[in-house]
Amino acid sequence: MVKHIIPNTLLETLEALNSSSYHIMAGGTDLMIQKRNSAGTVPKFSKNVLYIANLKELDFIRFDEKTCLSHIGAATKLEDIHTHEKVPPLLKDIIGDIGGPGIRHSGTLGGNIANASPAGDGLVGLYLLDAEIKITSLNDERIIPIKKFIKGVRFVDLKDNEIITEIIIPSCPFTNYKWVKVGGRKADSISKVSFAGLYKINNGLVEDIRFAFGSVATTVARNVELENSLKNKSIPAIIDELPRILEECDKIIAPISDQRSNKEYRRKVALNIVENFIKELKEF
Ligand SMILES: Cc1cc2nc3c(=O)[nH]c(=O)nc-3n(C[C@H](O)[C@H](O)[C@H](O)COP(=O)(O)OP(=O)(O)OC[C@H]3O[C@@H](n4cnc5c(N)ncnc54)[C@H](O)[C@@H]3O)c2cc1C
Repeated sequence: MVKHIIPNTLLETLEALNSSSYHIMAGGTDLMIQKRNSAGTVPKFSKNVLYIANLKELDFIRFDEKTCLSHIGAATKLEDIHTHEKVPPLLKDIIGDIGGPGIRHSGTLGGNIANASPAGDGLVGLYLLDAEIKITSLNDERIIPIKKFIKGVRFVDLKDNEIITEIIIPSCPFTNYKWVKVGGRKADSISKVSFAGLYKINNGLVEDIRFAFGSVATTVARNVELENSLKNKSIPAIIDELPRILEECDKIIAPISDQRSNKEYRRKVALNIVENFIKELKEF
């Protein structure tokens, strides 16, 4: 018989995880779908469930003026992140496109990350912003870049006795950014293709430029080497390099066909979006 526990503190949570194996449940908006049973019956869980949605210690948004880092608690509701003034605007926009209001009032950022879906929208922004994940166990704490934490489709670097406690996001000054989500409808739809890009212009040169795709590979596709090769160039020089940029992007895209879309559509749309992003670069 599957049991559930609802710890009151992070310490109780860590002690429970240290003594037994649990399904961690935050908002349950992914987990309940994955464990759903036939209509009208209760979901099928193989392990006990540890419910963390009420943990105050994992529900916070802070901006540290000294370090210029944003800190977001893993169980912070998506809607609170979407509406918070200190959250990077690109991430706010992305999170505002996750599900509909009902999902955003239950779902959490920690859940979006640990679910490690190729279509996880939050991941695209977090990869782009070089976010780090704080992972805590009873006797240890470690912080790793998101790209190392996500190991594959629904596969993350998390031991049974560990939990994501915090997401740390370095501030990233930008001149402009672009977020595109291609779905079947405007809200409550899972991405067929997604794209986030940002850039900073300084003295007429592109000081920073980043772009990443979601839903076109096993996880977020970003090519930092390509981005670095475009830095400190003028906008016209970068636009001249468009054929190379598209060729390099094509190499990191490996879409699949599924019930939402087919791989040819995904590839074509992803390349069209990055092409527009480059052509739309401007100084202000
Ligand atoms: C109708 C609908 C629409 C949706 N639309 C979108 C969308 O547009 N874009 C999108 O990206 N997603 C979408 N989702 C998926 C989902 O809502 C999000 O991924 C959400 O962020 C999951 O958060 P949660 O708290 O509900 O996770 P849960 O379901 O509670 O957990 C998901 C996974 O993360 C693990 N987990 C949760 N918290 C932690 C933690 N702190 N530490 C370690 N592991 C943890 C759980 O064990 C589980 O494996 C949608 C879902 C539904 C049902």
